[in-house]
Amino acid sequence: MAAPKNIIGSSGKASDCIFCKIVEGGLPAYKVYEDANTLAFLDIFPIHPGHVLVISKRHTVDIFDTPEEDLKSIIAAAKKISPAVMKATKADGINIGMNNKPASGQVVMHAHIHVIPRFKDDGLKTWPQRPYNNDAEKGHVAAAIKNAL
Ligand code: AMP
Ligand code: ZN
Repeated sequence: MAAPKNIIGSSGKASDCIFCKIVEGGLPAYKVYEDANTLAFLDIFPIHPGHVLVISKRHTVDIFDTPEEDLKSIIAAAKKISPAVMKATKADGINIGMNNKPASGQVVMHAHIHVIPRFKDDGLKTWPQRPYNNDAEKGHVAAAIKNAL
């Protein structure tokens, strides 16, 4: 069984958050974009060179506790940065992704969006998919989501 990932800043406190330290200048980063609310910098361990992380300067943990206005700011920044990443890396496509909670693969507990350049035939696959077992399974999960809203 794979070892559990080391969860960084899992207390949710900005004081032990590496991305807050980058915002405050206490940790170095290759910054590519900054405005009043957002910061974008190179992922230190990229899927491909040019893989950028976009964060809100205000500390939140994930999509669940992040105010809509902060989510709007980071997706707007990702919209600006994506064509620049495409151009700079000569990418053929871009994945935009956000991991929320450790089960999804979130390791840094400061909400962030990944902007990932992709290349034809780069050999990477996204998640494996499968068909639903039957219409009842589909109907059940669709109804459960609607009822939870
Ligand atoms: P996630 O799995 O969505 O939490 O992604 C966190 C990302 O942060 C990973 O892709 C790491 O490579 C990246 N990362 C961790 N520490 C740093 C750092 N100091 N500077 C830049 N990227 C980092
Ligand atoms: Zn933080």
